[in-house]
Amino acid sequence: MYEGKALLLVMDGLGDRPVASLGGLTPLEYATTPNLDGLATGGECGLMHTCGRGVRPGSDTAHLTILGYDPATFYTGRGPIEAAGVGMVLSPGDIAFRCNFATMTAGGRILDRRAGRISDTAELVAAVDGIAIDGVLCRVGQGSGHRAALVLHGEGLSGAVTDADPHREDEGILTVRPKDGSPEAARTADVVNAFVARAMDVLGKHPLNAQRKKDGLPPANALVPRGGDLNPCLPAFRGRYGLSAAVVAGGGLYKGVGRLMGMDVVEVPGATALPNSDLAAKVAAALAALSDHDFVFLHFKAADSLGEDGNAGGKAAFITMADFVLGPLADAVRDGLLLAVTADHSTPCALKAHSADPVPLIITGPGVRTDAVASFGERAVAAGCLGHVTGVDVMPELLNLLGRLPLYGA
Ligand code: ZN
Repeated sequence: MYEGKALLLVMDGLGDRPVASLGGLTPLEYATTPNLDGLATGGECGLMHTCGRGVRPGSDTAHLTILGYDPATFYTGRGPIEAAGVGMVLSPGDIAFRCNFATMTAGGRILDRRAGRISDTAELVAAVDGIAIDGVLCRVGQGSGHRAALVLHGEGLSGAVTDADPHREDEGILTVRPKDGSPEAARTADVVNAFVARAMDVLGKHPLNAQRKKDGLPPANALVPRGGDLNPCLPAFRGRYGLSAAVVAGGGLYKGVGRLMGMDVVEVPGATALPNSDLAAKVAAALAALSDHDFVFLHFKAADSLGEDGNAGGKAAFITMADFVLGPLADAVRDGLLLAVTADHSTPCALKAHSADPVPLIITGPGVRTDAVASFGERAVAAGCLGHVTGVDVMPELLNLLGRLPLYGA
């Protein structure tokens, strides 16, 4: 039923280090994971140094790597991925920024970088979307909560500009400056500065903000861009591998990675990228997407956030909950699905940050050389037959098992 199809499950920030309060186990080792252990038993296992040994991967570069897009060639920055993640389609030469709706004082200081965690910005986005400055179209897309994206579309632009966001409160919005001496960077900085001023003017007069003030809420009277970068123009996943593909994720970054590769983005109600995310619905949506796609990239976010909170017990509990919904994936493997389960990087609770510790990897399905590993833990998989791999090895391993690799030589 699933012959010739593959699914990649990435559990963000899954890897960890031994935790004293968990009896010296990692959260993954401590968690109750009969489904993952069963997949490890039937599969081949190993440890993955996603971006190479001694590299602490960001989630963006890690996912590009695992999907076979070497960041050294294909990574321009976070802005375009976030913009794609909120559903914006980017053209060659576009420059994209992440933005926050923020609250400014009359004196020009940022009072709240998240505008009271405003939740519905649709009307505000519509009011500032489509402003034209010096022949450049400034498009704004709505993100979750206070988040948005800005895409500049026009001739002669550059991603080499600084942030308008001071990244702290009680300061003014920064004047965006060119990072190099090119006329394109100077022009882009001028456009962003003019856009920020125009947006502040429009938002300051917007009736929704008048109502927020009346209701005692901080107005979302500024839009503050950061992380501007050039559209990386990724080659299509389908062209690269001959596989039609879809992404199922709650977080914008992961939808963005998929969309930039030309994957179909499957929206799942209840997929929040938070510990309360409806993981069972995501698994069901991912399996359903395999009916008309060859490859599905499925992403679970919350183990990473719990690691960054230093919450080892919560991380173990989330992993237990995630394992509980994986039964249908194990059934699909019995029905011919090729499945890889891994993480993009470790997020040790002791560090509250990403680390270079390698992450566990299982590949299971038709044709795998089953090894002796019978549990899915950072230490257990080290004995597996995949040994130590890097992120760029994952897609070739899957393509080999799918019978899609060209012959090298004659
Ligand atoms: Zn990550």
